[in-house]
Amino acid sequence: MDYQQVIEEVYEEVNALQLKGKVASYIPELSSVDPNQFGIAIVDLAGNVYGVGDYQKPFSIQSISKVFTLTMVFHKFKTKLWSRVNVEPSGNPFNSIAQLEYEKGIPRNPFINAGALVITDALTTKYAQPTTEILSFINELSGKTCVEINEVIKNSEMKHADRNTALAYFLKAYKNFDNDIAEVLDVYFAHCAMEMSCVDLARAFSFLANDGYSIFAQREIISESYARRINALMLTCGFYDESGEFAFRVGLPGKSGVGGGIAAVMPHKFSVAVWSPELNEKGNSVKAIKALELLTDKLSFSLF
Ligand code: GLU
Repeated sequence: MDYQQVIEEVYEEVNALQLKGKVASYIPELSSVDPNQFGIAIVDLAGNVYGVGDYQKPFSIQSISKVFTLTMVFHKFKTKLWSRVNVEPSGNPFNSIAQLEYEKGIPRNPFINAGALVITDALTTKYAQPTTEILSFINELSGKTCVEINEVIKNSEMKHADRNTALAYFLKAYKNFDNDIAEVLDVYFAHCAMEMSCVDLARAFSFLANDGYSIFAQREIISESYARRINALMLTCGFYDESGEFAFRVGLPGKSGVGGGIAAVMPHKFSVAVWSPELNEKGNSVKAIKALELLTDKLSFSLF
């Protein structure tokens, strides 16, 4: 299969559609990116890279970072983690406070903000320097030093942190938060403000297409059964309250972020990352979703 030719076709076809959305503006600094950027990268299980458009340009990975933090705690906490966070799709906006209140402080899943805050809290308990650990873990997965924290975006989010701070206080009120709130939020905003390119993201996600073994880190990151579970969570919860629609249209486990990126995997074949900043009303990149839909159609495979 000539992945390069396929992604070039997808790139042209998506551009021709002139899809429009809105760049995220609730983190003011995110809205300063050029909205027309668009890149696609595929990395196969031999490590070959196929790329088109802005696939080497770093962008704000935002919630895609939650897959890495979940991976870091998953095997450490085993079943204990699942008493603190559930594994059900939320069907609600990613920063919903109401749902956390009526479900008594147990977030629906690790990818909505409340769930990711619990994961970051667990990392803060475990590591003296959690942000440094997250950075070096992602670099290891990519097989090179490629991750940077954009301090301007981090500070911009910190200045508009009211909802995430409220979620953290709710978690604390329900005794589902162990550390100092400001300390955990600092780690959370740092990992959301990490920047990576499509190609480095696709490299970092490669272990999830490969039963938990990273060809770039040259070691088993997590067991095959844990990799399967992370993929199941991405498939059911990776796209905010559009996860069902994404499974229906694309059928790959993946995770989106409000920076306009999506990283996804076709198990036993490849990992893929697509980025374009304009989002639909659910917070997912309009071009990235369309590109992945065309890609799976053209390759005529998905999980289903
Ligand atoms: N840092 C963002 C927030 O907490 C992440 C949102 C996202 O990408 O889903 O609101």
